[in-house]
Amino acid sequence: MIQVDGAECRLIGTEEHYVPSQYVRANKPLVGSLWDDLDIEDLAFFLFDQRGKPWFDPLSDVGDGRIATMDRAGIDVALLSTLAPGVQAFRADEGAALARDMNDELSALVRDNPRLGGFGLFCPTSPSRAAVEVQRCVRELGLNGLIVYSHTGGEYLDDPKFWEIFEACEALGAPLYIHPRNPPSSLRRLLQNHKGEKVLASGIWGFAMETSLHAVRLLVSGVFDRFPRLKIVLGHLGEGLPYWLYRLDYMYERGYRRQGNGAAKRLPSEYFRDNFFVTVSGIHEHPGCSPTLRFCRDMVGADRLMFASDHPFQSAERAAEALLGAGMAPGDVRAIAHLNAERVFCNMGRFVEGPTERAART
Ligand code: MN
Repeated sequence: MIQVDGAECRLIGTEEHYVPSQYVRANKPLVGSLWDDLDIEDLAFFLFDQRGKPWFDPLSDVGDGRIATMDRAGIDVALLSTLAPGVQAFRADEGAALARDMNDELSALVRDNPRLGGFGLFCPTSPSRAAVEVQRCVRELGLNGLIVYSHTGGEYLDDPKFWEIFEACEALGAPLYIHPRNPPSSLRRLLQNHKGEKVLASGIWGFAMETSLHAVRLLVSGVFDRFPRLKIVLGHLGEGLPYWLYRLDYMYERGYRRQGNGAAKRLPSEYFRDNFFVTVSGIHEHPGCSPTLRFCRDMVGADRLMFASDHPFQSAERAAEALLGAGMAPGDVRAIAHLNAERVFCNMGRFVEGPTERAART
């Protein structure tokens, strides 16, 4: 709980990372192999540091250690998700099987835990199997939404061959969180410095560049004309896009729509404000973030912004303080802290019900 304007306020973290045991087992043969791929570097970057240790302990802890960190940060509920590159680094059959196993494990872990929820995975390589898994995650496993680690082998979800997945998400009212991963190898050379070092590939720029590219592809694809109630979630204050909305509209109108071209009927910012939700992950832990936070709130609205800590990669403990100190009205803070997440994600009732309702349900 945090205190907002003298009253207690729930805090829900919507981008809180963990590693399930299957993920480590499945990836072990790949890490350290000769397969020189950004996905593997991505994974190694997240699981092991240069000395081969640190991130793993906080990532794998879904028990007392995590709850203690959440308590220190004032976080009541953490919606868990795994790491990039998700299950998409694997071939279709392996990826789909791994998604099922990981979703089962996550569901068993969080189902009766009043402090933990989570997002389901699917492997886009086989869209019809992915759509079935999306339904299973929300209807049978009680998960709170879906997460995808951006591109799939350099392909993007604006391609209609993937739209069965969106059809399932829309029918369920289930938001799809698009989380960054390293860009596809076709972009690798552009993210190297003049010495050939891949310094720009990951969180410094590559993640936001690639994930915002994915989002803009969706905005101009017409996918939201076909699925007007589809909900997409972006982290990191919208991967820069709130800053860019006016120019996206201007150039789309001028370059395409005015000539009767362009697949999308409406302007990019209209879909962004109707179909997208944004979390504060990664840009949330320091008073220096306050102007950016307020700007994003002004652009997308306080009813579309949600709290997230990006644990353990960034500090959950400083996040609540930064949110409270950002100079926003108490109503906006409450919306960002928990009300939006409770409204936007699925199966959230168990986090807001009192002990009596909980006893009646179980
Ligand atoms: Mn993250």
